[in-house]
Amino acid sequence: HFASVEMTPGDPILGLTEAYLADTRPGKVNLGVGIYYDEQGRIPLLRAVREVEQALALEAKPRGYLPIDGLPAYTQATQKLVFGADSPLLAAGRVATSQTIGGSGALRIGADLLKKVLPKAKIAISNPSWENHRVVFSAAGFDVVDYAYYDAATHGLDFAGMLADLGKLEPGTVVLLHACCHNPTGVDLTAEQWKQVVALVKDHNLLPFVDMAYQGFDKGIDTDATAVRLFAESGIESFVVANSYSKSFSLYGERVGALSVVGASREEALRVQSLVKRTIRSNYSSPSTHGGALVAGVLNSVELRAMWEQELTEMRERIHAMRAGMVQKLAASGSPQFGFIQQQAGMFSYSGLSKAQVDKLREDYAIYAIGTGRICVAALNHANLDTVVSAVAAVSKA
Ligand code: PMP
Repeated sequence: HFASVEMTPGDPILGLTEAYLADTRPGKVNLGVGIYYDEQGRIPLLRAVREVEQALALEAKPRGYLPIDGLPAYTQATQKLVFGADSPLLAAGRVATSQTIGGSGALRIGADLLKKVLPKAKIAISNPSWENHRVVFSAAGFDVVDYAYYDAATHGLDFAGMLADLGKLEPGTVVLLHACCHNPTGVDLTAEQWKQVVALVKDHNLLPFVDMAYQGFDKGIDTDATAVRLFAESGIESFVVANSYSKSFSLYGERVGALSVVGASREEALRVQSLVKRTIRSNYSSPSTHGGALVAGVLNSVELRAMWEQELTEMRERIHAMRAGMVQKLAASGSPQFGFIQQQAGMFSYSGLSKAQVDKLREDYAIYAIGTGRICVAALNHANLDTVVSAVAAVSKA
């Protein structure tokens, strides 16, 4: 039956990690990952999460199925986090939220849903975007087109190009937008720029699909949700949000995310929710219990929520400190051209390093980065920063 199956190419990022693990050189550094590591180089288990987990272990509750759209305590808390506790959309009952298998699951369920409702619509993603955006939406049957985003010359946003490309899309096209901490570039829009994008999207009758995988990783929970809040205020009839707790709760393997679909009315949101549930049912039936219970336990407790916000702030500030440290030390090593790294946001930076420089970093210095020059700033710490800086300075002068 499977004789004709050919090898499918693996994920290049996972391949890089394998090569890193096999490397026996001391002092090796993996900047190719998409995970936040703490100052000790470990994936943190947040104290707030641990508290809930210990309480759950003591309760030893049975594991029945969750509803198809997840734990209500989770989806309700998620809505408040994503849209703001005092959101008029929530008060009007216009948001249909489902717990999903990570942010990836939210994207896929959202993609399948939109394919059913808008079978002819295309989707536009930023150039570049997280590779899986193309993979997920193509797998759901979408034609995926690009809009201009990154400007290699400035290491910043090609905002004029972005507006021009969005302006050319056919009405009804789905537009995937990164809420903050753009993966892979680290280049975000300002609030002013978001306002212009929101106005354009509304005027041209495009359907925004906001991917928020890093809420709280740049400026804070509410500021990082600016795009969502502006779409909500704009009076636009419908939009979609996928959010993930993988990073903000450091719960990667628990697969905690949510899909929120905003409808024109409470009644429309209910109808949409019934179709989302059908879509989930035909995929994996219902989400898993544990991760959702952890997030809900934290978000619904005043003390644990405060503890989590503190821990989230620590992660965010550590990333900022690493960006600042890298830029400062590079400048001191005779490479002042990297100042833009401090303007970029979130875990990632398009460092501007060429493929040849990335290869040299790996071969000569045991420092692993993606061929595009993407580095994970959140994998830097005080123990590896100097090593990375002197290697980057060396390859950029050569
Ligand atoms: N969107 C973006 C932009 C991401 O970077 C990621 C994770 N790397 C996701 C979605 C998916 O997150 P999750 O791990 O929760 O599926």
